[in-house]
Amino acid sequence: MSVGQQKIEEHRITSEPYYLPRGDELAIARMAYAHGLPLLLKGPTGCGKTRFMEYLAWELQRPLITVSCHDDLTTGDLVGRYLIRGGEAVWMDGPLALAVRNGAICYLDEIVEARKDTTVVIHPLADDRRELPVEKRGELLTAPPEFMLAVSYNPGYQSVLKDLKQSTRQRFVALEFDYPEAEFESEIVAREAGLEAATARNLVKVAAMTRGLKDSGLQEGASTRLLIHAGKLIKGGIDRRTACRVAVCAPLSDEPEMLAALEEIVSSVF
Ligand code: ADP
Repeated sequence: MSVGQQKIEEHRITSEPYYLPRGDELAIARMAYAHGLPLLLKGPTGCGKTRFMEYLAWELQRPLITVSCHDDLTTGDLVGRYLIRGGEAVWMDGPLALAVRNGAICYLDEIVEARKDTTVVIHPLADDRRELPVEKRGELLTAPPEFMLAVSYNPGYQSVLKDLKQSTRQRFVALEFDYPEAEFESEIVAREAGLEAATARNLVKVAAMTRGLKDSGLQEGASTRLLIHAGKLIKGGIDRRTACRVAVCAPLSDEPEMLAALEEIVSSVF
């Protein structure tokens, strides 16, 4: 039985990702990395958490292994399992073991989505033991200093069922993310969509107004990601209102009344 060969190199970020810092998050993350402390990124969807991790990985010159967590995610999915290849049982490291072995950064996106018993596997990795038990192989991996664990979660979706346990959260340095300030967000949208500044600013205005609807029944306002989608459509020649309808309004809600409110917002700006 041999350890299946997985390519760590394909997780390396070779060109500098565009990331506009919003505060001291990079300085804190660098310090956390230097001290072997894991990171918890809190914030709504599409506000820049993944991009931040990509930038950090690039800067630290570590491969970045990202796992989107879901409620079927098992410990085996993260740590690894035996597969039968040509009649032989071959061990395949899961993303977490792969990252630990290679001193990479492992980013577990939306950690609360994972089953509670799966989350527990990161506990010994996320404290000063920095160990990953690979039970099926009777192996205990000790993370090298280059390894970093990062997880994200969206406190906006918090419910009793989907909350991070204190025993998990109290292992992390937590960075709070939110949508960037209007000026920064316009710059990001203009840059990512290749859009002129004035239109980007107007998209950000639309977003700010949708975020104001959070108390009126909208679960989440428009994210920076949605603005970039709308911006790309506009840049490609789609009419502004249509672009906002399909890339901002429709993804946010299915309720006719809410959709009407969102489209009204769009017509007040464009
Ligand atoms: P999250 O991981 O929080 O769901 P992402 O990191 O995927 O969100 O952000 C969505 C998009 O918004 C990114 O692909 C990027 O284009 C843009 N973005 C958000 N914040 C920034 C930032 N600070 N600098 C550069 N791009 C950003």
